[in-house]
Amino acid sequence: MRETITINGGGLTGLSLAIALRKHGVAVTLHEAGTYPRHRVCGEFISGVSHETLETLGIADAFIDAKHHCSVAWFSGNDHLRDNLLPEPALAVSRHLLDDRLQKSATALGVNLQTKSRRQMTPKAPGEVWTAGRKPAKGKWIGLKAHVRGINPKAQLEMHSGPLGYLGVTPVEGGWFNVCGLFRMRRDIDARHEELLPAYLSKNGNTELARRISTAEWREGSFTAVAGFALGLQATTPGMLSLGDSHAIIPPFTGNGMTMAFQSAETALPHLVAYASGEMTWDESCAQIAKHLRTRFEKRLKSAKLIHPLLFHTLARPLLKHAPLKPILSLIR
Ligand SMILES: Cc1cc2nc3c(=O)[nH]c(=O)nc-3n(C[C@H](O)[C@H](O)[C@H](O)COP(=O)(O)OP(=O)(O)OC[C@H]3O[C@@H](n4cnc5c(N)ncnc54)[C@H](O)[C@@H]3O)c2cc1C
Repeated sequence: MRETITINGGGLTGLSLAIALRKHGVAVTLHEAGTYPRHRVCGEFISGVSHETLETLGIADAFIDAKHHCSVAWFSGNDHLRDNLLPEPALAVSRHLLDDRLQKSATALGVNLQTKSRRQMTPKAPGEVWTAGRKPAKGKWIGLKAHVRGINPKAQLEMHSGPLGYLGVTPVEGGWFNVCGLFRMRRDIDARHEELLPAYLSKNGNTELARRISTAEWREGSFTAVAGFALGLQATTPGMLSLGDSHAIIPPFTGNGMTMAFQSAETALPHLVAYASGEMTWDESCAQIAKHLRTRFEKRLKSAKLIHPLLFHTLARPLLKHAPLKPILSLIR
């Protein structure tokens, strides 16, 4: 291969792309601002990813013991609205485990992984890819996550909604349950750190879940929070190839963000290999990737954007009880 690829950001997009490129013989340097393993704000519920995508990227082994979840219980406030089964099982594995597995696999394949290496978001030279996740933006959202144990679940995925936002509860490994939500930020909530989760849930009318979480065992170091981001297409920087969340963030209720991270790596792969082997210029490769990302993600991003506000709407939320979930899910995958 003639050219090397430099990837900025070692989350799911960056790690899976690095692994796949190495498997095609491309030299890869990957810069990651943090270290591994670490907890991340994420519902850890992977919906809509195919085995074929994981195989193409060479990462299927990382899911060998992932949980497969089908049953969902929906709540509005404290009201249990309905139970249903997903058309296809979703995978569940913590980011603490998954990202660490992928970074080990990348390193074993010869990726030059530089941790604690925070890169500047400036236009990049040919061969540089930006996969550093959400781009900073004025946003009204706060994402909160923790792992807890002993909360007596009602289904493999509990989805709780209210006027401020929504939160999922799902088992991951080791008997832990991921508790992760997205809320409209409220300045009048007088809580800090771990207390934020039950405080937001209470304000959201999910007082019964707030009580269950408050009395549960919390996994040390698992509480994480994120704010200062916007959903949807992210700001573009001329000359920068952005993939995964850096390209577009689908609302988390879809459980499809991690799938999009893998699919964006899969979409970019052949064009980056063509660039590295000298068959395409960098500009040609980027143009092809942009075109294919648009085709692959446009429908689901638009559909999710339309559906998202309904989850917060006082009149619309009870309608979840009767909503045809299968056709809705097919729009956002
Ligand atoms: C509240 C919430 C709940 C969610 N729940 C789900 C869910 O249940 N299912 C689902 O599929 N998706 C969910 N998502 C979305 C999912 O987490 C993301 O889509 C996914 O993490 C995107 O992967 P990524 O690799 O593009 O970005 P990230 O996972 O964010 O990785 C980016 C990496 O870049 C590093 N980095 C950042 N800045 C720099 C820099 N300057 N230089 C170098 N490195 C840098 C970071 O440390 C990080 O490791 C949720 C998101 C939120 C906010």
